[in-house]
Amino acid sequence: MEELGHWINGKRVAGTSGRFADVYNPATGEVQAKVALASKAELDSAIADAAEAQKAWGATNPQRRARVMMKLVSLLNRDMDKLAEALSREHGKTFPDAKGDVQRGLEVIEFCIGAPQMLKGEFTDSAGPGIDMYSMRQPLGVVAGITPFNFPAMIPLWKMGPALSSGNAMILKPSERDPSVPLMLAELCQEAGLPDGVLQVVNGDKEAVDGILDSEVIQAVGFVGSTPIAQYIYERAAASGKRAQCFGGAKNHMIIMPDADLDQAADALVGAGYGAAGERCMAISVAVPVGEETADRLIEKLVPRIEKLKVGPYTAGDDVDYGPVVTAAAKANIERLVQSGVDQGAELVVDGRGFSLQGYEDGFFVGPHLFDRVTPDMDIYKTEIFGPVLSTVRAGSYEEAIGLALSHEYGNGTAIFTRDGDTARDFANRINIGMVGINVPIPVPLAYHTFGGWKKSGFGDLNQHGPDGFRFYTRTKTITSRWPSGIKEGGEFNFKAMD
Ligand code: NAD
Repeated sequence: MEELGHWINGKRVAGTSGRFADVYNPATGEVQAKVALASKAELDSAIADAAEAQKAWGATNPQRRARVMMKLVSLLNRDMDKLAEALSREHGKTFPDAKGDVQRGLEVIEFCIGAPQMLKGEFTDSAGPGIDMYSMRQPLGVVAGITPFNFPAMIPLWKMGPALSSGNAMILKPSERDPSVPLMLAELCQEAGLPDGVLQVVNGDKEAVDGILDSEVIQAVGFVGSTPIAQYIYERAAASGKRAQCFGGAKNHMIIMPDADLDQAADALVGAGYGAAGERCMAISVAVPVGEETADRLIEKLVPRIEKLKVGPYTAGDDVDYGPVVTAAAKANIERLVQSGVDQGAELVVDGRGFSLQGYEDGFFVGPHLFDRVTPDMDIYKTEIFGPVLSTVRAGSYEEAIGLALSHEYGNGTAIFTRDGDTARDFANRINIGMVGINVPIPVPLAYHTFGGWKKSGFGDLNQHGPDGFRFYTRTKTITSRWPSGIKEGGEFNFKAMD
């Protein structure tokens, strides 16, 4: 069986801790590889080498670092299919979806080609007599990225791009559930010209994560994952004086106003609710139709669309709508929550329970579910399910609908479908959620804007990618300088001042 180790000092190395985690093929349920789980000693050695490598990399001029990013873009394009295939095999998402995962990461690397522009600082001439003032952005040194299973290409690239192009060295600790693609990305970085040791991929679990959090060398931690771990990482990183940005889970609401185009809204809900088996932090998991008539018509349009969804392995072709979920444990958790919805009185309008796919009976497939008449006290409303389960909460008015989203503990993304500009504008202004779509169900900002949630979906300051990505992985130094002036006021040369 394949053993996946770490990427240290420019090469793949086997783990030495003797601890491993299983890596599944979610479509078949088989263990297809084992990934090494780093010990603290392995991590510390990777960090020490990264600190050494960072010195020269941080001193390299920004344009040269940008050229590495430029080369990396072309290599990601060259290997797109290969990366997507490895990604689908470990994650389970469809092939087009896996390509999208690589593509959205690649776009951040494209943005990072602009590193010299992002880093060039500010200058004030003659801030006082003979005084100039300038600010520069310097790399932090060694930084870390800790990433989740659901975007094993995109999120590591979101971390690596700004961190590396700013002159840092990075310890990347990817998810142990799909570690192949991050290792392949490290190989591509080397091919693109990144010096050895500047990017270290350390696979592992809590032991490696805690080692990162307690390290005195690592200066910043960028985390993406579930909310309890995000909060834990934020607190423990801060306790040792690190900069931390920790993005967590979500429960994204889509409000459907009575004037909305309901066909468009239903199509959007099916894509945003069930795409990638609902394993997206920007998935819509709650539909909030306003008014009974809107709700009835929406459900009528949703049911046939959901029943038509094609669930299958990524090898079954590009018309598969979604694949299996990532592990048997994830599947069991979804099934438990679906049952709680039934037990707590929600109406299961599309029942995906007992779904099985011929030839893939041991795969982690979950049929699509649609709940109606969900209420805010139910577990399926309060909890992030992270599966192909859409809950409908009927609201009597716009105020009641926006009130639901305002008071939910998560604040990652949200959307409103309406033809009314006033309502849309009011929603965008009042909502306490980081990313908002108006007739757009998954409002993921492009690479040159920034990505981040509010409330329990994001701890710390500054968002991911865009200008914030560079701000997070650099710090500002401001220099005030005064030189004796040889020029008299009025422009006449003062020779005496030169003596
Ligand atoms: P997770 O929290 O289980 O794991 C994320 C990372 O934390 C992994 O690298 C994992 O090894 C590590 N980890 C797990 N348990 C740990 C522990 N006890 N101590 C220390 N480290 C630990 O998340 P996941 O299941 O991989 O990813 C899915 C979650 O990520 C969902 O909640 C999803 O909403 C969220 N997510 C959020 C965003 C965002 O931008 N807000 C984006 C993608 C995913």
